[in-house]
Amino acid sequence: MKRKLAYSGIGFILIFALAFSAYKLMNARDYQLFGPITSRVETQEKVVALTFDDGPTDKTGSILSLLEDYEVKATFFLIGQDIEEHPEEAKKIVEAGHQIGNHTYSHKRMVLKSPSFIKNEIEKTDALIANIGYQETPVVRPPYGKKLIGFPYYLNKHQRETITWNLEPDTFFTKTEDKINYVKENIQPGSIILLHPMYDQTDNELQTIEGILQSLTDEGYTFVTIDNLFKFKAS
Ligand SMILES: [Zn+2]
Repeated sequence: MKRKLAYSGIGFILIFALAFSAYKLMNARDYQLFGPITSRVETQEKVVALTFDDGPTDKTGSILSLLEDYEVKATFFLIGQDIEEHPEEAKKIVEAGHQIGNHTYSHKRMVLKSPSFIKNEIEKTDALIANIGYQETPVVRPPYGKKLIGFPYYLNKHQRETITWNLEPDTFFTKTEDKINYVKENIQPGSIILLHPMYDQTDNELQTIEGILQSLTDEGYTFVTIDNLFKFKAS
């Protein structure tokens, strides 16, 4: 009886440990089971990448004109179904010379999904991105940064880069000023900053972007796309 209890105790601990590891793996920003994943590029140069998730939406124009004011190129991780809804906005991003990333078609968690579901989410969005005139192979970012087995397996098989981030002001703060200060305090050369201006109905996120552009420029940083950030990688 005692032994039985001990075994079930061990079983419980094992299941808990497995579930915990899977959870950590799903959310890891710089580790996955297959293929390369990047949350920051190792460099001494003062370069940084601004990345915007989701959309495009009708907010696109104001984001683009802000970037133009600072003569900055950024990376936009677009959602397939949002491109279908706002193809003209998506084209504007390409025409302005920014980098485009694939953020899946439906923005569902890419965890415990079938291989055919994952393939469809990526390839359908690739086709939409090609349709708006973007000619490179898009880098990929899983929705909510979540992935487990099938998603990295597919990307690795097709030699695609997974890009996450090392600075996420929106996760920790709501006030513009706090977000800007957090980025300023935690910035390192080669950082990748994640922001969400597309569904923001106030102009707070735009102000956050402007604050980050201004304060990091003052610190001597240059903003580049993800592709260009890799060119600064220390060998
Ligand atoms: Zn997203």
